[in-house]
Amino acid sequence: MKKQTLIYNGKSKQIFATESQNFIIMTYKDDETAYFGVKKSVIPNKGMLNNKISALIFKYLEKNGIYTHFVEQLDESEQLCRRATTLPLEFIVRNIIAGSLSRRLDIEEGTVPEQPIYEICLKSDVLRDPMINRYHVEGLGIAKEETLNQILVILKKINELLKNLLKKSHIDLIDFKVEFGFDTEGNLMLIDEISPDTARFWDSESHEHLDRDLFRRDLGDVETAYKEVLARLENVLQNG
Ligand code: UDP
Repeated sequence: MKKQTLIYNGKSKQIFATESQNFIIMTYKDDETAYFGVKKSVIPNKGMLNNKISALIFKYLEKNGIYTHFVEQLDESEQLCRRATTLPLEFIVRNIIAGSLSRRLDIEEGTVPEQPIYEICLKSDVLRDPMINRYHVEGLGIAKEETLNQILVILKKINELLKNLLKKSHIDLIDFKVEFGFDTEGNLMLIDEISPDTARFWDSESHEHLDRDLFRRDLGDVETAYKEVLARLENVLQNG
């Protein structure tokens, strides 16, 4: 399948139409951003690394019963995906308190909550992705109650699957963000990406960051850390 018109040009990815109504091609960029585009840079090989990391994770989730948009990795920076009607929402799952939650509620980063915490944000760069609750989502007609219930069940399953996978790679899953959409037949599916750009990964022993916080907070070399994440996942998924 070949790339046709550019449908969407995002901060870290581009989406192209294909000759089929049912599929799109997603291209990962080397551009790195933080704080809603205020901090910007180009990280060599980041597109390739996130493409490979996310492809491995989506394949693993599919194998374990999660329906996703992922079809196949086409080359170093491209994936063939099912076309989706997207929900304008971001779902965050937190196993350990970090980032915005730590700042907002003044809870020390690294604190372990009694149970995972789920957040919903409205996707809007202009509004800085405001957090909303399920009553906003249902009341404003963004998604139906049954869809949100379905998503919550899927989020729990994804969290358990990812925690298990990453544990084998000696990585703790601190938090992650995912998005959902509907395929051309109306089935709910996981879309977008799961990578060190959209999740917090801490080395299980040293607690070093292996994610976008390296860039956000100038903590170290992003490319080296993302390469390390990919190597550890390949080791578990391809050789283990
Ligand atoms: N996240 C994301 N995109 C966003 C906001 C958050 O991928 O637009 C991810 C982020 O990388 C982290 C998790 O969601 O893994 C929780 O993010 P948090 O709200 O702590 O974001 P921060 O304000 O620290 O960027």
